[in-house]
Amino acid sequence: MDEDVFVIDEDQITEFSARKVAVATRWDKLLCQVLRAMNSNWPNPIEKKLEPFHKRESELAIENGCMFWGSKMVIPKELQSAVLCELHEGNPGMTKMKNLARTRVLLPNMDREIEETVRKCLHCQDQRSEAAQAPVHSWEFPAKPWNRLHIDFAGHNDFHWKVIIDARTKWPELLL
Ligand SMILES: [Zn+2]
Repeated sequence: MDEDVFVIDEDQITEFSARKVAVATRWDKLLCQVLRAMNSNWPNPIEKKLEPFHKRESELAIENGCMFWGSKMVIPKELQSAVLCELHEGNPGMTKMKNLARTRVLLPNMDREIEETVRKCLHCQDQRSEAAQAPVHSWEFPAKPWNRLHIDFAGHNDFHWKVIIDARTKWPELLL
């Protein structure tokens, strides 16, 4: 997937978290546009940013204010960078991070986002130069949900979310 959509598996969704994603969805300009189009008509001509959604129109659904793409919940942009940060945890380097992302989550422009993250990170750069001798970083996967949490802030201007990501499920909790 190369488009601007970010999804999470349905089995990682709790009712509580879904409610927070629903709140963030309401704040998300793009997702609101998609919602409007789903409820009435898709604009013609279709805007480029709506294209990935329009192409999969038949697979899109709304449930309790959350958008679903097949069995996956569409994660609003506000939460995406936090999940990207989580994937970067432990400075796995470019290749490992891409592999992780592919098996765990679906991220828009995934390779580009990851390349940018790694490029900006000195630790990951080090890892690249040592890659020939050093063993590949092994990403420690927590045994249970909530064993390890990552907390960060996301937002803009004077508005901030506190974002908590469970390291195992990648489940985001969003606090206002
Ligand atoms: Zn790094």
